[in-house]
Amino acid sequence: MPSQSVSSSLTADVVVLGAGAAGLMCAATAGYQGARVLVIDHAKKPAGKVLMSGGGRCNFTNLNTTPAHYLSRNPHFCKSALKRYTPQDFVELVERHGVEYVEKNPGQLFCAESSKEIQRVLLTELEWSGAQLHLRTQLEAVQPRADGVLLHTSLGQIDAGALVIATGGLSIPTMGATGIGYTLARQFGLEVLPTRAGLVPLTLHPEHKHLFAPLSGLSCPVAIHAGGHTFTDDLLLTHRGLSGPAVLQVSNFWQEGQEVSINWLPDLCVSTALRQERQQAAKAGLAAWLGRHLPKRLAATLYEEITLHHDPLPARLADLSNERIDQLANHLQNWVFKPAGSEGYRTAEVTLGGVATEQISSQNFAVQGLEAVRFIGEVLDVTGQLGGFNFQWAWASAVACGRSF
Ligand SMILES: Cc1cc2nc3c(=O)[nH]c(=O)nc-3n(C[C@H](O)[C@H](O)[C@H](O)COP(=O)(O)OP(=O)(O)OC[C@H]3O[C@@H](n4cnc5c(N)ncnc54)[C@H](O)[C@@H]3O)c2cc1C
Repeated sequence: MPSQSVSSSLTADVVVLGAGAAGLMCAATAGYQGARVLVIDHAKKPAGKVLMSGGGRCNFTNLNTTPAHYLSRNPHFCKSALKRYTPQDFVELVERHGVEYVEKNPGQLFCAESSKEIQRVLLTELEWSGAQLHLRTQLEAVQPRADGVLLHTSLGQIDAGALVIATGGLSIPTMGATGIGYTLARQFGLEVLPTRAGLVPLTLHPEHKHLFAPLSGLSCPVAIHAGGHTFTDDLLLTHRGLSGPAVLQVSNFWQEGQEVSINWLPDLCVSTALRQERQQAAKAGLAAWLGRHLPKRLAATLYEEITLHHDPLPARLADLSNERIDQLANHLQNWVFKPAGSEGYRTAEVTLGGVATEQISSQNFAVQGLEAVRFIGEVLDVTGQLGGFNFQWAWASAVACGRSF
């Protein structure tokens, strides 16, 4: 570059691209190390996903975090950072800032009041660390140089010792998500694994949509299975399909075109229970029995569905053969369907796949052979299950990278 333009450019030891969970945490950590840090983001406000997370109360970590809670082609990659910055470390940080929190499901910590509290912690840390934040700023091009990178931005040129790419995944484009992290990874010769929406509601084909849409808003505990994984948690029926924690969890393992199976009565062995009922209340019918074990409207819908797909049912349980009971039990406990698809990035909480980690240092998150360029957070091919694991990855990868400056 002509020396004149370089000398007129801004300078920083570290530029962080992306003022989300990982970017802000990394910038503050690097700032405390004494580095001159600039954070740039094209969005109007910082930490947008933090604000909308956890239903507005940000499930900011999970005390039971282990590497087994993450999906990645390279499952060992996340171990070192997770070990060096634990959920307890983040809890200590939020406690220092006076954030009140509650444990919902075992290990899942949420703000007692609002996600704004976590945004406040991140921005306060950023300020205390001396790092500067520039919103509504576009990155136009990046040129690696012998001693760092030269960035062309809407702020002007920035001569930086290092660039940390913390641009997250593709989910919720209306919150500022873009694929820039993947484009930059390709520019630096890195492999980008195919991406798909994760922790996302599943949609139904018209036949099932028609059946369940009237139950929209109803939630019940199920066991749901797809792609070799089973989750027992609540399922929520929506007017488009299926949501709720059980469905979001299984969506990470479900691939387009695969079948999903639902056990509507996960706490019962239906064939044993129906045999007992046949003895004790022989005159009762299946509809009444279902109504006692499931939410009434769901029981009625499943009963209607059984009558559509099977031979007419006898009025009394006494008239059900063992074979018929086993058939009904299978229907209720292994209800197999093919989702039409998922709701996609529009509502997904995370993006599966992304920048392959094999050429990234698990110690400081630098690209192999290009120490000045780092990738952290969700842009990498590391995706957590539901329950605060994604933020824990954002914090841990950010701190590991930030401490290295
Ligand atoms: C609705 C919802 C609820 C969620 N709830 C939870 C939860 O409760 N617990 C949990 O652990 N996880 C939750 N997640 C997931 C969690 O929000 C993410 O995994 C986490 O935010 C990833 O952090 P990140 O810093 O890598 O990316 P992000 O937080 O997504 O930040 C990326 C930043 O990069 C910026 N950026 C993108 N493109 C550009 C560009 N071209 N130029 C400049 N800047 C750019 C964006 O504006 C954004 O500020 C939720 C996600 C969603 C969508």
